Amino acid sequence: MIKAVVGANWGDEGKGKITDTLAEKADIIVRFQGGANAGHTIVNDYGKFALHTLPSGVFYSHTTSVIGNGVALNIPVLKKEYDEVVGKGVPAPKLKVSDRAQMVMPYHILFDQYEEERLAGRSFGSTKSGIAPFYSDKYAKIGFQVNELFDEESLKEKLKNICETKNVLLEHLYHKPLLDPEELFREMMEWKEMIAPFVCDTSAFLWEAVQNGREILLEGQLGSLKDPDHGIYPMVTSSSTLAGYGAVGAGVPPYAIQKIITVSKAYSSAVGAGAFVSEIFGEEADELRRRGGDGGEYGATTGRPRRMGWYDCVASRYGCRIQGTTDVAFTVLDVLGYLDEIPVCVAYDIDGKITTEFPTTSLLEKAKPVLETLPGWKCDIRGIRKYEDLPENCRKYVEFIEEKIGFPITMVSNGPGRNDIIWREK
Ligand code: GDP
Repeated sequence: MIKAVVGANWGDEGKGKITDTLAEKADIIVRFQGGANAGHTIVNDYGKFALHTLPSGVFYSHTTSVIGNGVALNIPVLKKEYDEVVGKGVPAPKLKVSDRAQMVMPYHILFDQYEEERLAGRSFGSTKSGIAPFYSDKYAKIGFQVNELFDEESLKEKLKNICETKNVLLEHLYHKPLLDPEELFREMMEWKEMIAPFVCDTSAFLWEAVQNGREILLEGQLGSLKDPDHGIYPMVTSSSTLAGYGAVGAGVPPYAIQKIITVSKAYSSAVGAGAFVSEIFGEEADELRRRGGDGGEYGATTGRPRRMGWYDCVASRYGCRIQGTTDVAFTVLDVLGYLDEIPVCVAYDIDGKITTEFPTTSLLEKAKPVLETLPGWKCDIRGIRKYEDLPENCRKYVEFIEEKIGFPITMVSNGPGRNDIIWREK
């Protein structure tokens, strides 16, 4: 059976931790989209890790980690991460990289930086990892698949042609140094050495695994609201963040994805620009940011302080629906234990009209939050393992949100560790 672990919101919901928890019973963990622009933070017996490319399952010796064809593969970043994991004493991960995955090229990263510079104040808040230029090239059909590393003559030829067009932009639009196809070729030959031991037809491997009834987890990056089709376009990422895309980005049958576990955090955070209706500011935001996650709400890749907000039922209900959620994992609930009262955004007010439907971007910009306030529980809930043992107000908070979003919360996460999880039977 295939389970997808995906985000309901803007990312940073705690998917890494939920995948890590579920990986205990899984055989294979697959990344199917995104690149090294976002990261998962995982805390386990080996230490604390910020993973950007490796799936969260790498810490178990019984699992195989797969980088699917839908990923923006940055080979040096992957190699560095792999070496770091092994260097900290984790048994060498069993890793398979799709021969159809495309590679983030050095110029994708440069173009990302140059475009942000050019746009200056009008920028999209890119992490400058080359993700948007990478996916633009993929769909313009001038990207490079991993298998192309192994055909040196045609690789050289293609690099020459691509540098020609890229250099026109570099010279006339960005006024930056030009690309040298031979230098790129030499760099890619180093990549070939790094990646060769892992490359294979991962869709064939996964097909076989599905036939044999293996337990497979698809691990999503970011969340529903960053999806290029269904999210807050254009303040979105460049590949689909939805479980449905898992079928494409991993190369597995859509019907085999039988569980869609959508992760949603007990309060909101977002990075980058874009409307964020339940956002809070000032000391109230600073305190939640400081206490949030595990060691504060700062980007795993960039270290940027995240924007903070109250839980948004409108965005989450939509985010869960668009994922095709079967189960909600409700995370980081322990962090809210300091609050006397907890505001929750239950509807949007758009030009005086109250709605619980998540609107398109231009209307979203005008939306004001309609807040309801719930009583806090004022204690530390870490270490609790049974739902009934949670304080009554804490359970009321969970159940209130469950009712508003309309999808069953079957897992409650009350700490960053693998075992900080409360299962709710539904
Ligand atoms: P992801 O990208 O969705 O995996 O999310 P991140 O890794 O960026 O953010 C989640 C952060 O919250 C990490 O620092 C986790 O260790 C931490 N975390 C996850 N679940 C919990 C939880 O239930 N409680 C607390 N306190 N921290 C958590």
